[in-house]
Amino acid sequence: MRSFKLRIFMLVTLAGIIPCIVLGEIILDGYESRAVSVRTANVRNQCTILANHLINNGYLQDPSIATVSAELEQLSNLYDGRVLIMNSDYRIIKDTYGISEGKYMISEEVVKTFLKESISRYDEKNRFIEVTTPLSFNDEILGVMLTSVSTEEIHETITILRKRATIIIVIAIIVVLVCSFLATRSLVRPLVGLSNAINDYQEGYDHPEISVNDYFETEQITKAFNDMLGRMRSLDDSRQAFVSNVSHELKTPIASVKVLADSLLGQEDVPVEMYREFMEDIAHEIDRENDIINDLLSLVRMDKKDAKLSCEQCDIEELVASIIRRLKPLAERDNVEIVFEAVRSVEAQVDATKLSLAVTNLIENGIKYNTAGGKVTVTLDAEPADFTLVVADTGVGIPAEDIDNIFERFYRVDKSHSKEIEGNGLGLAIARNAIIMHKGAIKVESTPGEGSTFTVKIPRG
Ligand code: ADP
Repeated sequence: MRSFKLRIFMLVTLAGIIPCIVLGEIILDGYESRAVSVRTANVRNQCTILANHLINNGYLQDPSIATVSAELEQLSNLYDGRVLIMNSDYRIIKDTYGISEGKYMISEEVVKTFLKESISRYDEKNRFIEVTTPLSFNDEILGVMLTSVSTEEIHETITILRKRATIIIVIAIIVVLVCSFLATRSLVRPLVGLSNAINDYQEGYDHPEISVNDYFETEQITKAFNDMLGRMRSLDDSRQAFVSNVSHELKTPIASVKVLADSLLGQEDVPVEMYREFMEDIAHEIDRENDIINDLLSLVRMDKKDAKLSCEQCDIEELVASIIRRLKPLAERDNVEIVFEAVRSVEAQVDATKLSLAVTNLIENGIKYNTAGGKVTVTLDAEPADFTLVVADTGVGIPAEDIDNIFERFYRVDKSHSKEIEGNGLGLAIARNAIIMHKGAIKVESTPGEGSTFTVKIPRG
């Protein structure tokens, strides 16, 4: 894994150092070419003046003219160079070094100059500039002056400049390194702070919110992290509440069984009728325990992320009718009438088991939380895309402040009152989960003392 700190450090360093070095090289190169072209222009001017002098004084015919020879020597000394004069026969009539006079010189430059082309050439390796000047009179070229001047002085200057540039670059590199180290540290510090703050949370969720507000970006990350933490905290709270509710609900029937069994064991010569009565109570508590466990299992199964529906084409009217048939004895026991109205017969793709759970819970609640002589009306209707099931009762109703909570697990309105009515507070949670799995929706309207209406809408496809 690459380090962010190292990456920024390298980027800042390279961004500082590379331009320094490149700029240094460009300036030195620019200086060299400028110095060479200035020197070449100067030499050419001098040579042109001297060439006129040579022609006017007839130097080509008489190279012994002392004044002109002195001028040639002066030029040669001035530029630490050498001047050769060739006549029209390519014979060297003057060499300021005095070693080639009388010899012939037929170089490319000289030939080109006789063809009226002035040449100047810079030999970087051997460090000299060569300039040829035609010696002409009335447009006729009578000879050629070949001047070579040293560029050693320019190179010495460049060497000195290069040394200075190197010192400046080294200083710049040191400054850039220090600056990039400090910049990297200050850039990365908030991230390190953020990472430390997040690491502290590995212990649990009970820390206060983290706050690293050095930059806009770290503030955003901090906010996102705190939001996520809030969600995790509330998840953790509801998980803890769920576990404690489950433990409590599971313990209650077992505690009753224990009390019943202990009281039987504590008595001697218990009549058989009493045994029977107590055993019926124990069996009832065991059934209750079993119901809670089954409900919990249904919830857990539907809660799973990968929980799937096994849908099949189903006659909803028949499904509801069979549930009502099953619940009829319960309704009769409580003296509650059940009316089923199917406005339209409905076929839909549903998971019959899960949907039955939801519908059973709704109708059962309509019966349970009703009054003697009350009524539960179940209405089934269909639209092109959905079907609607309405379960309306004339029961006790739900207080407005409880309406939002009734779908929560283990939530029961008025626990003391609910004690008389059997239940564990899981029925509506199961119903809602099953409906949501079908991509449907459930809503409730209720008036205390008058009754409640649960409306379920589920897509048919
Ligand atoms: P329970 O097992 O207690 O019936 P539910 O999850 O089915 O659990 O319902 C939660 C609570 O909502 C019930 O305890 C009850 O107080 C209230 N409730 C549900 N349905 C009705 C209804 N039709 N009429 C009045 N109250 C209801």
